[in-house]
Amino acid sequence: MRAIHIPQILNAANKTLAIDVAEHLPQLDTLTPVKGELTVAHRGTFLEVSAQAGAIMTLECDRCLQSYNTRIQVNTSEILWLEDTVEEDDVLEKEVELEDLVESLPPNGHFKPDEWLYEQMCLAIPQKQICNADCQGIEITSNPPVQEVDHRWAALSTLKQQLSE
Ligand SMILES: [Zn+2]
Repeated sequence: MRAIHIPQILNAANKTLAIDVAEHLPQLDTLTPVKGELTVAHRGTFLEVSAQAGAIMTLECDRCLQSYNTRIQVNTSEILWLEDTVEEDDVLEKEVELEDLVESLPPNGHFKPDEWLYEQMCLAIPQKQICNADCQGIEITSNPPVQEVDHRWAALSTLKQQLSE
């Protein structure tokens, strides 16, 4: 996906570009290409970007640490304001990046559909990754350290008994 020169969107029919997506995104390790559609509409003072796209990803289960494949699906739209940002805002912007849902682009700049879609896909990855609802996690069998403690407790209680007798 090539970067889109924002003023060019005004030349498109209904000032809206529709992009078919069927590719692996840079930085995003997906098992299948990301497939779907992305539309960018120029609304004068802002861009309205929406996407329905998805791909299969290999994740690692938080409970059992096994890899599993799951579908990551995006069905979202976002408003990107068109305004020239002041440079000194940059530092501040980075700090609030995660919570800052309102983004802006320079009116004569470029919109990068792959970067935008990458962010949306990342947001769609579940924070808690569980291979399936019934996952029991790592099976914990009786292991030496626990037994060792048991032995000590046993020895201590024997000693206690002897002392009290
Ligand atoms: Zn699991």
